[in-house]
Amino acid sequence: MAGPEPNDATPFLPERSSLKGLREASAGCRGCHLWRGTTQTVFGEGRKRSRLMLVGEQPGDREDLAGRPFVGPAGRELNRGLEAAGIERADAYLTNVVKHFKFEERGRRRIHQTPKRFEIDACRPWLEEELKVVNPDALVLLGAIAAKALLGSSFKVTQHRGELLDSELAPLVVATIHPSAILRAPDDTARARERKAFAEDLRAVVRALAAK
Ligand code: SF4
Repeated sequence: MAGPEPNDATPFLPERSSLKGLREASAGCRGCHLWRGTTQTVFGEGRKRSRLMLVGEQPGDREDLAGRPFVGPAGRELNRGLEAAGIERADAYLTNVVKHFKFEERGRRRIHQTPKRFEIDACRPWLEEELKVVNPDALVLLGAIAAKALLGSSFKVTQHRGELLDSELAPLVVATIHPSAILRAPDDTARARERKAFAEDLRAVVRALAAK
């Protein structure tokens, strides 16, 4: 009889951490059940020692197929925000708190499902290694799932978005919305407002980095 599902990525970490080694090792991670039915692990992307690291929730349908983070519709919104804030995407390290796409099938569509705490905890060793290797000057947490995962479950993005937060994760830590929230805005006016506010949060990070 099969035993219970594992719930920890630690046994899959490579002995020595480098981004290449971590990415390769993560491709075989079976640290929790979320790999089942997916195309692949979607590890972080960007240069070692990027000054800026952005952390989202989990890959979506497009990211699962491409094997790269933030390449779907939310990724396009992220790109817009980065551009508006004067940040080159290639200069940032992009990743997610969970590295496999969690979804439910509805007909032929795969619908995003929010990862649960135990799934986030299982995957956390990968993020911790990424943080160690990249060692960013600024860390931007995109959305409530990423922010709560790293700052505690009582943290409220809506109350503290764009603020410089006191955290040992990085010298500068800022939380903002997940770019997918812009896509969910009910109309064009709300969408434009969300886009503007998102870019403004990213600009706050740029200003703080420049002042460092
Ligand atoms: S979600 Fe994370 S812990 Fe779970 S299998 Fe994928 S990489 Fe491993």
